[in-house]
Amino acid sequence: MARRRVLALVSLALLAAPAHARRSGPPRAQPVDLVVIHSTGGPTCDAQGRPIWVPAGELNENLRQIEAHPRLGIHWMIDKGGTVRASVPESQVAHHVLTHSRRSIAIELINDGDGRDPFPPAQVDALVALLKDIARRHPAVTRAGVRRHSDLDRGRMPCAPERRRKVDPGDAYPHAAVLARVFGP
Ligand SMILES: [Zn+2]
Repeated sequence: MARRRVLALVSLALLAAPAHARRSGPPRAQPVDLVVIHSTGGPTCDAQGRPIWVPAGELNENLRQIEAHPRLGIHWMIDKGGTVRASVPESQVAHHVLTHSRRSIAIELINDGDGRDPFPPAQVDALVALLKDIARRHPAVTRAGVRRHSDLDRGRMPCAPERRRKVDPGDAYPHAAVLARVFGP
């Protein structure tokens, strides 16, 4: 009887495994030389094929959604108060950007990504500290290797081809100032 109980628990654990497994990815086959900055908000096409803007959302719910996604993943997420949360380990690949995921680390910032929603100092401070740490742990990551998602994906929205698919983290993100603080002026 005791043995049956253990087996039942094991099969319950297996049923629960997929949600957990998405917090991991394949092991890396090449060194990290790229960090991609994202925002949680941005444009997408709704179920009716119309362009809509997804708002920034909140840390726990965004992590829950990305970790429940069958294919996509990220390594880090930072909220507006500067709280940093880890998701996929840096030693594993997370799919977050077309064609560059295998060599990159993904950082998501909670922000609408619309060029107006501000990035508060606490969030930028936490990002700078995380980037310094990543650059120390992955020596191939240089100033030129810290890029915005919009720098790397120039595709168009399938439901609105006149608009770009990826514009995050948007013009309110202080890219030059962040790079100067991490790598020097
Ligand atoms: Zn992005």
